[in-house]
Amino acid sequence: MPRDPIPARARMVQQLAAGGIGDPRVLRALGAVERHRFVEPGLAPQAYEDTALPIGLGQTISKPSVVARMLELLVQGGLQDAQGKLGRVLDIGTGCGYQAVALSYLAAEVYSIERLRDLHEKARANLRPLHIPNVHLILGDGMAGFAKGAPYAGIIAAAGGQALPPQWIEQLAEGGRIIAPIAAPGGAQALMVVDKTRGAIVQTVLEAVHFVPLKSGIV
Ligand code: SAH
Repeated sequence: MPRDPIPARARMVQQLAAGGIGDPRVLRALGAVERHRFVEPGLAPQAYEDTALPIGLGQTISKPSVVARMLELLVQGGLQDAQGKLGRVLDIGTGCGYQAVALSYLAAEVYSIERLRDLHEKARANLRPLHIPNVHLILGDGMAGFAKGAPYAGIIAAAGGQALPPQWIEQLAEGGRIIAPIAAPGGAQALMVVDKTRGAIVQTVLEAVHFVPLKSGIV
C-alpha cells in the first residue's frame, strides 16, 4: 500500500483552484479522495498530476481538472438543500469508483452504474475499505439510467454517446441537471449540460472533451 502523498493531493487542489475551479464543496471533495488508491499501484506516483490514467479494460479515469469541472457544473445545478448538498445522484460509468467517492461528499445518495463486470468488481474492492454508506454500486447498462433511484437531482456520465438517452431525462427530477459528454459534429465530443426547469428541457453545449464511448449491454 503506497503512503498517502498528502502534499501532492493538496497541490492538485491548489492547481484546480488556480485553474478556475471555485466551488469550495468540489475542492474539499477532491482534496479528501485518495486518487492514488484508485489507479494501478505502478501509476500511484502520477495520481495527482492532471492526467487521465488507465484503469484496465481499455477504460480511463478522467483527469482531475475534467472531474472537477463536471462536479462543479453538477453542484451548481438547481437542486440542493440548505447546506448545498445534492439529493440523489446517478453516476454513469463507475470505472474504478473514484468519481463515485468524490460524489459521496456532494450528494445524499450516489447510485453508480457500470456495464463491465470486472470494473464493477474492482470498484467494489476499491470502496470496501472506505466504508462509504451513501454510495451504491450497480452492475448494469447505464444507457437505461437506473429507474429504482429516480428521480435524480443530478446525473453525470463518464462515457459519451451519440445522443442523450431519453431515460436520463425521464429520471431527472424537476429542477435537476445532467452533465454528460455527447457527440459533436465531425466525430468530436462536447460537454453538455441539461436542465429540467418547469417541465422544459434546456440544453447547453460547452467545451470539447474526450471520453470513452457509451456502450450498451453488460459484459
Ligand atoms: N468515473 C469513472 C471513469 C470511468 S471511464 C472513474 O472515476 O473511474 C467510463 C466508464 O463508463 C467505463 O468504465 C465504461 O465501461 C463505462 N460505461 C460505458 N458505457 C456504459 C453504460 N452504458 N453503462 C454503464 N457504464 C458504462
